[in-house]
Amino acid sequence: MAETVKQCTKCGRRPSIYLRPYSGERLCADCFKSTIRERVERTVSRYDMFEHDSRIAVGVSGGKDSLGLLHVLNEIEAEFPRSEVIAVSIDEGVAGYRDEALTIAGEACRELGVEHNIFSFADLFGTTMDDVASTPRELTPCSYCGVLRRRALNEAARSVEADRLATGHNLDDFAQTALMNLLRGDLRRLSLMHPGGGEVEGFVRRVKPYCEVPERESALYAHLEGFRFQEIPCPHASEAMRNDMRAFINGVEVKRPGTTFTVYRTALKLIPNVEPGDLIGRCRLCGEPTTGETCRACQLMEELNPSSNGA
Ligand code: SF4
Ligand SMILES: [Zn+2]
Ligand SMILES: [Zn+2]
Repeated sequence: MAETVKQCTKCGRRPSIYLRPYSGERLCADCFKSTIRERVERTVSRYDMFEHDSRIAVGVSGGKDSLGLLHVLNEIEAEFPRSEVIAVSIDEGVAGYRDEALTIAGEACRELGVEHNIFSFADLFGTTMDDVASTPRELTPCSYCGVLRRRALNEAARSVEADRLATGHNLDDFAQTALMNLLRGDLRRLSLMHPGGGEVEGFVRRVKPYCEVPERESALYAHLEGFRFQEIPCPHASEAMRNDMRAFINGVEVKRPGTTFTVYRTALKLIPNVEPGDLIGRCRLCGEPTTGETCRACQLMEELNPSSNGA
């Protein structure tokens, strides 16, 4: 005998399509989508992420998380006529990968009627990730890419005159990064992870409104909303430790649903107890805020190209 489809536990009217393992809820497509939106709204309000008239630059890579965030924020901000959402994308210069993602991001922005601005490593730093990957170097390509993209996103947000920079980090990204920082003993970086960001002179405040959306729910949301997103991995992907963290957390999550949320909440409890160390000066090469004499982006650029004058 065919199994009866269970009803949605939220509305009780439609058949469920998703069993949420960590809460036991069975949700229909509409209720699932509304819970994602409600969760983002709660995260935004819990961490006071925006003002009623914020100009929000959303970092859009063309992947499911950043496009999902763009959809949700665009919907939420439509209720706040004095606020504005602008998409910014970074072209790291990875042929056959980032160009496809940028096309997808551009299409999504056109459909949503959101202004889209692209900033490239080539223009900002005079190099591309394809060049970096083929240059003899000490660190993995992702180490350079992460530092340079962080800088590029800040420049992008500043240049579109945004007062907030929203990124699409999901719950799994957050938990993996928190564990990586703990295992490396890097409490300073842990302290900088707060989803609500912080006010630091020279930096547009960075917020992570998607940080309570699990990766698989982000994928389901994208599927149900029916938008296209990039699925192929970057050819330079090399974050071995992140892959270990992902496998570890996912393995425990299967046996003990809710573990990823526990890692996230534990990190949030630790953050206020860690001294971040002040940004005390300006980089001698590029003038950006830094803890030392030279910022990390300029250090990496000098290492790649000893005759260069920094980022
Ligand atoms: S996988 Fe690494 S190199 Fe590729 S875009 Fe991401 S951070 Fe950059
Ligand atoms: Zn329902
Ligand atoms: Zn610098």
